[in-house]
Amino acid sequence: MYDLLIKDALLVTCDKKHSLYQNGVMAVKAGRIKEITESGSAVADSLQAKEVISAKGQIVMPGLINMHCHAADSLFRGLVENLSLEAWLGRVWIAEKAILTPKTTFLGSVLGLAENLLSGVTSVMDMFWYPVETALAARMLGMRLSTGGIFFDPPGIGGRTHDDYVIEAKEFSATFGGSSDIFPATMPHGTYTVSPKHLISAKSIADENEELFCTHAAETKAEQADIQNRYGKSVIRHLASHGLLGNRTVLAHCVHVDDHEISLMAESDTSVVHNPMSNLKLGSGISPTFMMQEAGIRLTIGTDGAISGNDLDMWLAMRLTSGLAKGVSMKPDVLPAKDVLHMATLNGAEALGKKLELGSLEVGKRADFIFLD
Ligand SMILES: [Zn+2]
Repeated sequence: MYDLLIKDALLVTCDKKHSLYQNGVMAVKAGRIKEITESGSAVADSLQAKEVISAKGQIVMPGLINMHCHAADSLFRGLVENLSLEAWLGRVWIAEKAILTPKTTFLGSVLGLAENLLSGVTSVMDMFWYPVETALAARMLGMRLSTGGIFFDPPGIGGRTHDDYVIEAKEFSATFGGSSDIFPATMPHGTYTVSPKHLISAKSIADENEELFCTHAAETKAEQADIQNRYGKSVIRHLASHGLLGNRTVLAHCVHVDDHEISLMAESDTSVVHNPMSNLKLGSGISPTFMMQEAGIRLTIGTDGAISGNDLDMWLAMRLTSGLAKGVSMKPDVLPAKDVLHMATLNGAEALGKKLELGSLEVGKRADFIFLD
């Protein structure tokens, strides 16, 4: 006897083969998918469960994975318009300093994470000032979240120093490491706001615990020029030279990357998060996703925060991902829907180190799925 049986669904599994079940049946027990089959088969007829849901006319698919968000920035939605990243950040940081406390961060996180959840996102990678509050908000909503200690060298929120950030990152990891819903990471803001020494310190905390390391990278041309000027290397070369790339590194944006930077990310198995709406709103540019895909980079999708995209809509992000790649490459066959669906599901799960648990409807994985009407 299973706990739950979903019947008559169009099952879009998002597995490696893009398997579809037109009239699918899925059985769940103890939070895990135990059986997936087509209706009418002998197996399907034998399945019994305490609860049966008919999903006739509906699509059932894995919960989406939003790989780059600042959920609590929903408090500032619409506050800053028509500015480039650098000028925009100047305004955002003033607003954040004015009102952010652990309590307002919790409330903002609930708001932003609920928007994700209500549009079918069940897992989020989030970077923010008080990560414990965001983790508690996610737990309250029943979502999965990857976040952790932030690192930021200029005066940030709460007057913390690098040593404080180190303590917070270690405490976060000790508190949430090993849980099935919160996946700790270290989260230096970027190469232009965190020194190489402090980036390495953040990475070593992540490495000690085999956790993720996430940062903004190569978002604007100005950022690339700044890092080139300071360190004599472009952003991705700079990260690579300090041993900061790898299969547990997640880089948000990568809009301005050259062929060599693409090969550095591909060879190191680094994950990239494409944030098309944010890149468009801030006039940052259009990421060469199709070139990164060709190079074999694991591409994922994010919404970024609600101040840089005005909403947290992964469906819009997916449409833009496909459309922008086709338009910029002038090749209508690049990034078809099935690849973009993988970017928003299975690739995200792989980037989080959870490919055996999340990202597709497959026997043995967690029953983390959504209904679409
Ligand atoms: Zn961001």
